[in-house]
Amino acid sequence: MRQRKIKNAAPTLLQQAGVIIEPVRLELPDQPIVLEIGSGKGDFIIQMARDYPDKSFYALEINANVLYRILQKKEAEKLNNLTIILGDANDLLTYFAEHSIAEIYLNFSDPWPKKRHHKRRLTYKSFLELYKRILKGNGFIQFRTDHLDLFAASIESFDLQPHFILIEVNYDLPLGKYVTEYEQKKRPSGPIYQLRAKVESDDS
Ligand code: SAH
Repeated sequence: MRQRKIKNAAPTLLQQAGVIIEPVRLELPDQPIVLEIGSGKGDFIIQMARDYPDKSFYALEINANVLYRILQKKEAEKLNNLTIILGDANDLLTYFAEHSIAEIYLNFSDPWPKKRHHKRRLTYKSFLELYKRILKGNGFIQFRTDHLDLFAASIESFDLQPHFILIEVNYDLPLGKYVTEYEQKKRPSGPIYQLRAKVESDDS
């Protein structure tokens, strides 16, 4: 995604506005915890946080310039159930205690088409192992993309992971209520794919 440089996206200014800018262990409220990884400009999680005031939302995004857009929306709507994290999915176990999360959302994650980059895909098996550890026993992951090759590889990745069961595989997702920026852009040119996988064990 090409972004203009945004002056206010300096990490210290983000921090003053309440954004978590370093990998620290988060203190989580006693509410269902919902995490979106790679939130982009935040349309999806902003809409969800608005609709579910009794859940606590966490937007993790590695790019400060797009993350700044989430902050602007959060402030405009005065959402106090959304925490914004400038950080990397590789540090999830620092931010979140084991078995602390109810729902994880991945929307239009980078496809990393070259084989030697497949390890960077957010549905690669090493990431699924991280998700398994931070998810509660009855938790789930939902993954949405327009990229068929990434979708097929992700299905395989979940199939091979003994702790997840696929509970939804959709090759033509109808337009729903929670739409991301990429989805808005990509819908006119082809189908949108979505899967949902549940943690199999019941430890929580
Ligand atoms: N979810 C948004 C953006 C999709 S683009 C949408 O659907 O419109 C993928 C996003 O994931 C980018 O904003 C990118 O910066 C972010 N991202 C990629 N790798 C990441 C990582 N390891 N940790 C956190 N965010 C990441």
